[in-house]
Amino acid sequence: MQINNHERINVDDRNLCKLAISELSSIYSEIGLSQEELDLLDMPRRSFIVHFPVRMDSGKIKMFVGYRVHYNDARGPAKGGIRFHPELTLDHVKDLSFLMALKCAVVNIPFGGSKGGVVVNPKELSRNELEQVTRGYIRAIANYIGPFIDIPAPDVYTDENIMVWILDEYERIKREHVFAVVTGKPVDLGGSKARSYSTSLGGIYVLEEAMKRMDMDKFEVSIAVQGFGNVGENAARILHEKGYKVIAVSDSKGGIINKDGLDIKAVMEHKLITGSVVDFKESCNITNEELLTCECDILIPAALSDQLNSANANDVKAKMVMELANAPTTREADNIFFDKKIILIPDVLANAGGVVVSYFEWIQNLNNDYWEEDKVLERLKKTMIIAYNEIHSLCDEKNCRMRKSAYQLALNRILHAEKLRGNL
Ligand code: NAD
Repeated sequence: MQINNHERINVDDRNLCKLAISELSSIYSEIGLSQEELDLLDMPRRSFIVHFPVRMDSGKIKMFVGYRVHYNDARGPAKGGIRFHPELTLDHVKDLSFLMALKCAVVNIPFGGSKGGVVVNPKELSRNELEQVTRGYIRAIANYIGPFIDIPAPDVYTDENIMVWILDEYERIKREHVFAVVTGKPVDLGGSKARSYSTSLGGIYVLEEAMKRMDMDKFEVSIAVQGFGNVGENAARILHEKGYKVIAVSDSKGGIINKDGLDIKAVMEHKLITGSVVDFKESCNITNEELLTCECDILIPAALSDQLNSANANDVKAKMVMELANAPTTREADNIFFDKKIILIPDVLANAGGVVVSYFEWIQNLNNDYWEEDKVLERLKKTMIIAYNEIHSLCDEKNCRMRKSAYQLALNRILHAEKLRGNL
Protein backbone atom coordinates (compact mmCIF):
# COMPACT_ATOMS: atom_id res chain seq x y z
CA MET A 1 0.00 0.00 0.00
CA GLN A 2 1.20 3.47 -0.79
CA ILE A 3 2.06 5.25 2.42
CA ASN A 4 2.86 8.93 2.41
CA ASN A 5 4.44 10.99 5.12
CA HIS A 6 1.52 10.71 7.54
CA GLU A 7 2.88 13.04 10.21
CA ARG A 8 3.11 15.83 7.64
CA ILE A 9 -0.37 15.27 6.31
CA ASN A 10 -1.82 15.29 9.79
CA VAL A 11 -0.10 18.60 10.58
CA ASP A 12 -1.36 19.99 7.25
CA ASP A 13 -4.87 19.05 8.24
CA ARG A 14 -4.58 20.81 11.57
CA ASN A 15 -3.43 24.00 9.85
CA LEU A 16 -6.24 23.69 7.36
CA CYS A 17 -8.79 23.37 10.15
CA LYS A 18 -7.30 26.30 12.07
CA LEU A 19 -7.36 28.53 8.99
CA ALA A 20 -10.85 27.51 7.97
CA ILE A 21 -12.23 28.06 11.44
CA SER A 22 -10.69 31.52 11.76
CA GLU A 23 -11.99 32.41 8.29
CA LEU A 24 -15.42 31.07 9.19
CA SER A 25 -15.69 32.99 12.43
CA SER A 26 -15.04 36.26 10.63
CA ILE A 27 -17.67 35.32 8.02
CA TYR A 28 -20.14 34.38 10.76
CA SER A 29 -19.91 37.85 12.25
CA GLU A 30 -19.95 39.60 8.85
CA ILE A 31 -23.05 37.91 7.49
CA GLY A 32 -24.76 38.15 10.86
CA LEU A 33 -25.89 34.58 11.48
CA SER A 34 -28.70 34.05 13.96
CA GLN A 35 -28.07 32.14 17.18
CA GLU A 36 -30.06 29.21 15.75
CA GLU A 37 -27.87 29.10 12.66
CA LEU A 38 -24.70 29.30 14.73
CA ASP A 39 -25.91 26.49 16.97
CA LEU A 40 -26.76 24.35 13.99
CA LEU A 41 -23.31 24.84 12.43
CA ASP A 42 -21.50 24.47 15.72
CA MET A 43 -21.97 20.75 16.25
CA PRO A 44 -21.96 17.60 14.16
CA ARG A 45 -25.23 15.77 13.66
CA ARG A 46 -23.81 12.39 14.66
CA SER A 47 -20.50 11.26 16.14
CA PHE A 48 -19.81 7.56 16.60
CA ILE A 49 -17.09 6.03 18.72
CA VAL A 50 -16.67 2.29 18.24
CA HIS A 51 -14.44 -0.28 19.93
CA PHE A 52 -13.86 -3.55 18.13
CA PRO A 53 -11.74 -6.66 18.61
CA VAL A 54 -9.21 -7.92 16.05
CA ARG A 55 -7.37 -11.25 16.21
CA MET A 56 -3.72 -10.37 15.54
CA ASP A 57 -1.22 -12.67 13.79
CA SER A 58 0.04 -13.74 17.24
CA GLY A 59 -3.38 -15.28 17.92
CA LYS A 60 -4.12 -12.67 20.62
CA ILE A 61 -7.14 -10.35 20.51
CA LYS A 62 -6.49 -6.60 20.47
CA MET A 63 -9.15 -3.90 20.89
CA PHE A 64 -9.14 -0.91 18.50
CA VAL A 65 -11.00 2.40 18.62
CA GLY A 66 -12.61 3.94 15.56
CA TYR A 67 -14.60 7.11 14.83
CA ARG A 68 -17.11 8.22 12.26
CA VAL A 69 -18.66 11.69 12.23
CA HIS A 70 -21.51 12.94 10.03
CA TYR A 71 -21.06 16.69 10.39
CA ASN A 72 -23.92 17.81 8.22
CA ASP A 73 -26.05 15.89 5.76
CA ALA A 74 -28.75 18.41 4.90
CA ARG A 75 -27.63 18.48 1.24
CA GLY A 76 -27.36 14.71 0.75
CA PRO A 77 -25.60 11.61 2.09
CA ALA A 78 -22.50 12.43 4.10
CA LYS A 79 -19.18 11.99 2.25
CA GLY A 80 -15.67 11.77 3.62
CA GLY A 81 -12.50 9.75 3.90
CA ILE A 82 -11.38 7.04 6.29
CA ARG A 83 -7.89 7.43 7.73
CA PHE A 84 -5.74 5.10 9.77
CA HIS A 85 -3.52 7.14 12.05
CA PRO A 86 -2.03 6.58 15.50
CA GLU A 87 -2.84 10.14 16.64
CA LEU A 88 -6.37 10.36 15.31
CA THR A 89 -8.78 12.11 17.71
CA LEU A 90 -12.52 12.60 17.63
CA ASP A 91 -12.09 16.40 17.64
CA HIS A 92 -9.85 16.32 14.59
CA VAL A 93 -12.29 14.02 12.80
CA LYS A 94 -15.11 16.47 13.61
CA ASP A 95 -13.17 19.43 12.14
CA LEU A 96 -12.30 17.48 9.01
CA SER A 97 -15.90 16.35 8.55
CA PHE A 98 -17.05 19.98 8.66
CA LEU A 99 -14.48 20.89 6.00
CA MET A 100 -15.82 18.05 3.83
CA ALA A 101 -19.35 19.45 4.16
CA LEU A 102 -18.03 22.84 3.03
CA LYS A 103 -15.97 21.42 0.15
CA CYS A 104 -18.93 19.45 -1.24
CA ALA A 105 -21.10 22.56 -0.96
CA VAL A 106 -18.48 24.77 -2.71
CA VAL A 107 -18.58 22.59 -5.83
CA ASN A 108 -22.32 22.05 -5.35
CA ILE A 109 -22.39 18.26 -5.34
CA PRO A 110 -25.33 16.75 -3.41
CA PHE A 111 -23.36 15.46 -0.45
CA GLY A 112 -22.91 16.44 3.15
CA GLY A 113 -19.63 16.02 5.00
CA SER A 114 -18.21 13.21 7.11
CA LYS A 115 -14.88 11.74 8.18
CA GLY A 116 -13.69 8.77 10.13
CA GLY A 117 -10.90 6.40 10.89
CA VAL A 118 -9.16 4.08 13.26
CA VAL A 119 -6.51 4.93 15.83
CA VAL A 120 -3.74 2.71 14.52
CA ASN A 121 -0.30 2.90 12.94
CA PRO A 122 -0.66 0.76 9.80
CA LYS A 123 3.13 0.52 9.50
CA GLU A 124 3.04 -1.74 12.56
CA LEU A 125 0.48 -4.14 11.05
CA SER A 126 0.95 -7.09 8.71
CA ARG A 127 -1.19 -7.08 5.56
CA ASN A 128 -3.52 -9.62 7.17
CA GLU A 129 -3.86 -7.49 10.33
CA LEU A 130 -4.55 -4.41 8.21
CA GLU A 131 -7.35 -6.28 6.46
CA GLN A 132 -8.80 -7.52 9.78
CA VAL A 133 -8.70 -3.98 11.26
CA THR A 134 -10.49 -2.63 8.17
CA ARG A 135 -13.14 -5.35 8.26
CA GLY A 136 -13.61 -5.02 12.04
CA TYR A 137 -14.09 -1.26 11.74
CA ILE A 138 -16.64 -1.65 8.92
CA ARG A 139 -18.60 -4.25 10.93
CA ALA A 140 -18.67 -1.76 13.81
CA ILE A 141 -19.93 1.19 11.70
CA ALA A 142 -21.97 -0.74 9.10
CA ASN A 143 -25.26 0.68 10.38
CA TYR A 144 -24.03 4.26 9.95
CA ILE A 145 -22.72 4.02 6.37
CA GLY A 146 -24.46 3.23 3.09
CA PRO A 147 -24.98 4.73 -0.39
CA PHE A 148 -27.75 6.99 0.93
CA ILE A 149 -26.36 7.53 4.44
CA ASP A 150 -22.60 8.11 4.40
CA ILE A 151 -20.06 7.16 1.74
CA PRO A 152 -16.42 6.65 2.80
CA ALA A 153 -13.34 7.16 0.59
CA PRO A 154 -9.54 6.89 0.93
CA ASP A 155 -7.66 9.34 3.13
CA VAL A 156 -4.33 9.33 4.97
CA TYR A 157 -2.90 5.78 5.05
CA THR A 158 -5.85 4.17 3.28
CA ASP A 159 -5.86 3.29 -0.42
CA GLU A 160 -7.90 1.53 -3.10
CA ASN A 161 -7.08 -1.94 -1.70
CA ILE A 162 -8.59 -0.94 1.62
CA MET A 163 -11.66 0.45 -0.21
CA VAL A 164 -12.14 -3.03 -1.73
CA TRP A 165 -12.06 -4.68 1.74
CA ILE A 166 -14.61 -2.08 2.90
CA LEU A 167 -16.86 -2.89 -0.05
CA ASP A 168 -16.50 -6.64 0.43
CA GLU A 169 -17.22 -6.54 4.17
CA TYR A 170 -20.24 -4.29 3.73
CA GLU A 171 -21.63 -6.53 0.97
CA ARG A 172 -21.19 -9.62 3.19
CA ILE A 173 -23.22 -7.90 5.91
CA LYS A 174 -25.96 -6.74 3.52
CA ARG A 175 -25.89 -9.96 1.49
CA GLU A 176 -26.07 -8.02 -1.79
CA HIS A 177 -23.83 -5.95 -4.09
CA VAL A 178 -23.62 -2.31 -3.00
CA PHE A 179 -20.80 -0.71 -5.01
CA ALA A 180 -21.99 2.81 -4.16
CA VAL A 181 -21.19 2.39 -0.44
CA VAL A 182 -17.57 3.53 -0.92
CA THR A 183 -15.58 5.49 -3.53
CA GLY A 184 -11.93 5.41 -4.54
CA LYS A 185 -12.22 1.79 -5.68
CA PRO A 186 -10.06 0.35 -8.49
CA VAL A 187 -11.49 0.88 -11.98
CA ASP A 188 -11.88 -2.90 -12.35
CA LEU A 189 -14.19 -3.03 -9.33
CA GLY A 190 -16.53 -0.07 -9.64
CA GLY A 191 -14.01 2.78 -9.60
CA SER A 192 -14.21 5.76 -11.97
CA LYS A 193 -11.81 6.52 -14.77
CA ALA A 194 -9.66 9.65 -14.23
CA ARG A 195 -9.93 9.60 -10.45
CA SER A 196 -6.18 9.21 -9.91
CA TYR A 197 -5.40 12.62 -11.39
CA SER A 198 -8.74 14.35 -10.82
CA THR A 199 -7.48 16.64 -8.03
CA SER A 200 -4.79 18.14 -10.29
CA LEU A 201 -6.97 18.35 -13.40
CA GLY A 202 -9.88 19.90 -11.48
CA GLY A 203 -7.48 22.63 -10.31
CA ILE A 204 -6.22 23.20 -13.85
CA TYR A 205 -9.75 23.69 -15.18
CA VAL A 206 -10.27 26.38 -12.56
CA LEU A 207 -6.90 27.92 -13.36
CA GLU A 208 -7.75 28.16 -17.05
CA GLU A 209 -11.04 29.86 -16.27
CA ALA A 210 -9.26 32.35 -14.01
CA MET A 211 -6.67 33.01 -16.74
CA LYS A 212 -9.45 33.80 -19.21
CA ARG A 213 -10.78 36.45 -16.81
CA MET A 214 -7.30 37.95 -16.53
CA ASP A 215 -6.59 37.82 -20.26
CA MET A 216 -3.55 35.66 -19.65
CA ASP A 217 -2.31 33.88 -22.77
CA LYS A 218 -1.61 30.16 -22.34
CA PHE A 219 1.49 30.36 -24.56
CA GLU A 220 2.96 33.34 -22.74
CA VAL A 221 2.64 32.37 -19.10
CA SER A 222 5.33 30.63 -17.08
CA ILE A 223 4.38 28.30 -14.23
CA ALA A 224 6.22 27.07 -11.11
CA VAL A 225 4.97 24.01 -9.18
CA GLN A 226 6.10 23.23 -5.63
CA GLY A 227 5.87 19.50 -4.80
CA PHE A 228 6.26 16.58 -7.20
CA GLY A 229 4.05 13.94 -5.54
CA ASN A 230 0.61 12.73 -6.61
CA VAL A 231 -0.86 16.22 -6.99
CA GLY A 232 2.19 18.28 -8.06
CA GLU A 233 3.57 15.78 -10.55
CA ASN A 234 0.19 15.23 -12.18
CA ALA A 235 -0.38 19.00 -12.36
CA ALA A 236 3.03 19.62 -13.97
CA ARG A 237 2.52 16.71 -16.39
CA ILE A 238 -0.98 17.80 -17.48
CA LEU A 239 0.08 21.43 -17.89
CA HIS A 240 3.09 20.33 -19.97
CA GLU A 241 0.88 18.08 -22.13
CA LYS A 242 -1.50 20.99 -22.68
CA GLY A 243 1.39 23.09 -23.99
CA TYR A 244 2.03 25.33 -20.98
CA LYS A 245 5.57 26.35 -20.05
CA VAL A 246 6.37 24.84 -16.66
CA ILE A 247 9.65 26.49 -15.73
CA ALA A 248 10.25 25.22 -12.19
CA VAL A 249 9.33 22.20 -10.06
CA SER A 250 10.54 20.88 -6.71
CA ASP A 251 10.33 18.09 -4.15
CA SER A 252 11.53 17.69 -0.56
CA LYS A 253 15.18 17.55 -1.76
CA GLY A 254 15.05 20.86 -3.69
CA GLY A 255 13.97 22.38 -6.98
CA ILE A 256 15.02 22.94 -10.59
CA ILE A 257 14.43 25.79 -13.03
CA ASN A 258 14.72 26.36 -16.76
CA LYS A 259 13.31 29.69 -17.96
CA ASP A 260 12.61 28.19 -21.42
CA GLY A 261 10.44 25.47 -19.90
CA LEU A 262 11.13 22.00 -18.50
CA ASP A 263 10.49 18.77 -20.36
CA ILE A 264 8.26 17.34 -17.61
CA LYS A 265 8.15 13.79 -19.04
CA ALA A 266 11.97 13.74 -18.90
CA VAL A 267 11.91 15.19 -15.36
CA MET A 268 9.54 12.38 -14.32
CA GLU A 269 11.93 9.77 -15.75
CA HIS A 270 14.85 11.47 -13.99
CA LYS A 271 12.96 11.34 -10.71
CA LEU A 272 12.11 7.69 -11.19
CA ILE A 273 15.80 6.88 -11.57
CA THR A 274 17.35 9.24 -9.00
CA GLY A 275 14.50 9.68 -6.50
CA SER A 276 14.38 13.46 -6.95
CA VAL A 277 13.92 16.19 -9.55
CA VAL A 278 17.21 17.78 -8.41
CA ASP A 279 20.19 17.68 -10.83
CA PHE A 280 17.97 17.27 -13.90
CA LYS A 281 20.30 17.89 -16.83
CA GLU A 282 18.55 20.70 -18.71
CA SER A 283 18.03 22.94 -15.66
CA CYS A 284 19.68 24.75 -12.74
CA ASN A 285 19.12 23.64 -9.17
CA ILE A 286 17.26 26.05 -6.88
CA THR A 287 16.00 25.87 -3.31
CA ASN A 288 12.32 25.49 -2.49
CA GLU A 289 12.37 29.04 -1.14
CA GLU A 290 13.75 30.32 -4.46
CA LEU A 291 11.03 28.45 -6.36
CA LEU A 292 8.31 30.24 -4.41
CA THR A 293 9.72 33.67 -5.22
CA CYS A 294 11.02 33.00 -8.74
CA GLU A 295 9.99 35.11 -11.76
CA CYS A 296 6.85 33.36 -12.98
CA ASP A 297 3.23 34.20 -13.76
CA ILE A 298 1.53 31.35 -11.94
CA LEU A 299 2.64 29.65 -8.74
CA ILE A 300 1.15 26.31 -7.73
CA PRO A 301 1.96 25.17 -4.18
CA ALA A 302 1.25 21.40 -4.20
CA ALA A 303 3.28 20.10 -1.28
CA LEU A 304 2.87 21.34 2.28
CA SER A 305 0.96 23.82 4.41
CA ASP A 306 2.28 27.27 5.45
CA GLN A 307 4.70 27.59 2.52
CA LEU A 308 3.60 31.12 1.63
CA ASN A 309 3.81 33.23 4.76
CA SER A 310 4.56 36.71 6.05
CA ALA A 311 8.31 36.13 5.51
CA ASN A 312 8.11 35.53 1.75
CA ALA A 313 4.70 36.74 0.52
CA ASN A 314 6.01 40.20 -0.38
CA ASP A 315 8.67 38.61 -2.61
CA VAL A 316 6.23 36.46 -4.58
CA LYS A 317 6.27 37.62 -8.20
CA ALA A 318 3.48 35.45 -9.58
CA LYS A 319 0.25 37.14 -10.63
CA MET A 320 -1.78 34.11 -9.63
CA VAL A 321 -1.41 31.46 -6.92
CA MET A 322 -3.39 28.23 -7.11
CA GLU A 323 -3.48 26.20 -3.89
CA LEU A 324 -3.46 22.53 -4.84
CA ALA A 325 -1.99 21.68 -1.41
CA ASN A 326 -4.11 22.09 1.69
CA ALA A 327 -3.50 25.41 3.49
CA PRO A 328 -0.20 26.37 1.77
CA THR A 329 -0.88 30.09 2.41
CA THR A 330 -1.06 31.62 5.88
CA ARG A 331 -3.68 34.23 6.73
CA GLU A 332 -1.01 36.97 6.68
CA ALA A 333 0.23 35.96 3.23
CA ASP A 334 -3.36 35.78 1.98
CA ASN A 335 -3.88 39.41 3.07
CA ILE A 336 -0.60 40.50 1.45
CA PHE A 337 -1.64 38.84 -1.84
CA PHE A 338 -5.02 40.55 -1.71
CA ASP A 339 -3.34 43.95 -1.23
CA LYS A 340 -0.91 43.21 -4.07
CA LYS A 341 -3.82 42.12 -6.30
CA ILE A 342 -2.36 38.64 -6.69
CA ILE A 343 -5.25 36.30 -7.51
CA LEU A 344 -5.41 33.42 -5.04
CA ILE A 345 -7.49 30.35 -5.92
CA PRO A 346 -8.17 28.74 -2.53
CA ASP A 347 -7.65 25.05 -1.67
CA VAL A 348 -11.33 24.44 -0.87
CA LEU A 349 -12.06 25.04 -4.57
CA ALA A 350 -8.72 24.29 -6.30
CA ASN A 351 -8.27 20.76 -4.94
CA ALA A 352 -11.96 19.71 -4.91
CA GLY A 353 -11.66 17.76 -8.21
CA GLY A 354 -11.05 14.52 -6.30
CA VAL A 355 -14.35 14.61 -4.43
CA VAL A 356 -16.19 15.63 -7.61
CA VAL A 357 -14.97 12.49 -9.38
CA SER A 358 -15.90 10.48 -6.27
CA TYR A 359 -19.42 11.78 -6.77
CA PHE A 360 -19.27 10.59 -10.40
CA GLU A 361 -18.11 7.18 -9.18
CA TRP A 362 -21.14 7.01 -6.88
CA ILE A 363 -23.50 7.94 -9.76
CA GLN A 364 -21.93 5.29 -12.02
CA ASN A 365 -22.28 2.65 -9.29
CA LEU A 366 -25.92 3.49 -8.64
CA ASN A 367 -26.77 3.29 -12.34
CA ASN A 368 -24.47 0.36 -13.06
CA ASP A 369 -23.36 2.34 -16.10
CA TYR A 370 -19.68 3.18 -16.50
CA TRP A 371 -18.47 6.31 -18.26
CA GLU A 372 -15.65 6.75 -20.73
CA GLU A 373 -12.82 8.98 -19.55
CA ASP A 374 -13.98 11.80 -21.86
CA LYS A 375 -17.37 11.95 -20.16
CA VAL A 376 -15.79 12.08 -16.69
CA LEU A 377 -13.49 14.91 -17.77
CA GLU A 378 -16.26 16.86 -19.46
CA ARG A 379 -18.44 16.75 -16.33
CA LEU A 380 -15.50 17.52 -14.05
CA LYS A 381 -14.68 20.56 -16.14
CA LYS A 382 -18.25 21.80 -16.11
CA THR A 383 -18.58 21.37 -12.34
CA MET A 384 -15.29 23.12 -11.57
CA ILE A 385 -15.95 26.04 -13.93
CA ILE A 386 -19.43 26.66 -12.57
CA ALA A 387 -18.04 26.66 -9.01
CA TYR A 388 -15.26 29.05 -9.97
CA ASN A 389 -17.64 31.47 -11.70
CA GLU A 390 -20.06 31.48 -8.77
CA ILE A 391 -17.25 32.24 -6.34
CA HIS A 392 -15.78 34.86 -8.64
CA SER A 393 -19.12 36.67 -8.98
CA LEU A 394 -19.48 36.74 -5.19
CA CYS A 395 -15.96 38.18 -4.92
CA ASP A 396 -16.79 40.94 -7.39
CA GLU A 397 -19.98 41.76 -5.53
CA LYS A 398 -18.33 41.88 -2.08
CA ASN A 399 -14.81 42.92 -3.13
CA CYS A 400 -13.34 40.17 -0.99
CA ARG A 401 -10.88 37.30 -1.24
CA MET A 402 -11.89 34.16 -3.13
CA ARG A 403 -11.42 32.02 0.00
CA LYS A 404 -13.98 34.07 1.85
CA SER A 405 -16.50 33.90 -1.02
CA ALA A 406 -16.04 30.14 -1.28
CA TYR A 407 -16.79 29.58 2.41
CA GLN A 408 -19.67 32.00 2.32
CA LEU A 409 -21.22 30.27 -0.67
CA ALA A 410 -20.86 26.88 1.05
CA LEU A 411 -22.38 28.09 4.31
CA ASN A 412 -25.30 29.68 2.50
CA ARG A 413 -25.97 26.42 0.64
CA ILE A 414 -25.91 24.32 3.81
CA LEU A 415 -28.13 26.75 5.73
CA HIS A 416 -30.54 27.02 2.81
CA ALA A 417 -30.94 23.23 2.73
CA GLU A 418 -31.58 23.24 6.48
CA LYS A 419 -34.20 25.97 6.03
CA LEU A 420 -35.95 24.04 3.24
CA ARG A 421 -36.08 21.02 5.55
CA GLY A 422 -37.66 23.15 8.25
CA ASN A 423 -34.70 22.85 10.60
CA LEU A 424 -34.25 26.61 10.80
P1 NAD B 1 2.50 13.41 -1.82
O1 NAD B 1 3.05 12.92 -0.54
O2 NAD B 1 2.21 12.46 -2.94
O3 NAD B 1 3.51 14.52 -2.43
C1 NAD B 1 4.07 15.58 -1.68
C2 NAD B 1 5.22 16.17 -2.47
O4 NAD B 1 5.73 17.28 -1.75
C3 NAD B 1 6.40 15.21 -2.67
O5 NAD B 1 6.93 15.39 -3.97
C4 NAD B 1 7.43 15.70 -1.65
O6 NAD B 1 8.76 15.43 -2.03
C5 NAD B 1 7.15 17.19 -1.72
N1 NAD B 1 7.67 17.93 -0.57
C6 NAD B 1 7.77 17.55 0.72
N2 NAD B 1 8.36 18.51 1.44
C7 NAD B 1 8.62 19.53 0.57
C8 NAD B 1 9.20 20.81 0.71
N3 NAD B 1 9.66 21.25 1.87
N4 NAD B 1 9.26 21.59 -0.39
C9 NAD B 1 8.81 21.15 -1.59
N5 NAD B 1 8.27 19.97 -1.77
C10 NAD B 1 8.17 19.16 -0.69
O7 NAD B 1 1.19 14.24 -1.44
P2 NAD B 1 0.00 14.67 -2.43
O8 NAD B 1 -1.09 13.64 -2.39
O9 NAD B 1 0.56 15.11 -3.72
O10 NAD B 1 -0.58 15.92 -1.61
C11 NAD B 1 0.04 17.21 -1.70
C12 NAD B 1 -0.86 18.24 -1.04
O11 NAD B 1 -2.13 18.24 -1.69
C13 NAD B 1 -1.14 18.00 0.44
O12 NAD B 1 -1.30 19.25 1.06
C14 NAD B 1 -2.49 17.28 0.41
O13 NAD B 1 -3.21 17.43 1.62
C15 NAD B 1 -3.16 18.02 -0.73
N6 NAD B 1 -4.28 17.30 -1.36
C16 NAD B 1 -4.10 16.10 -1.95
C17 NAD B 1 -5.18 15.46 -2.58
C18 NAD B 1 -4.99 14.16 -3.31
O14 NAD B 1 -5.90 13.78 -4.05
N7 NAD B 1 -3.86 13.49 -3.19
C19 NAD B 1 -6.47 16.03 -2.52
C20 NAD B 1 -6.64 17.26 -1.86
C21 NAD B 1 -5.53 17.88 -1.30
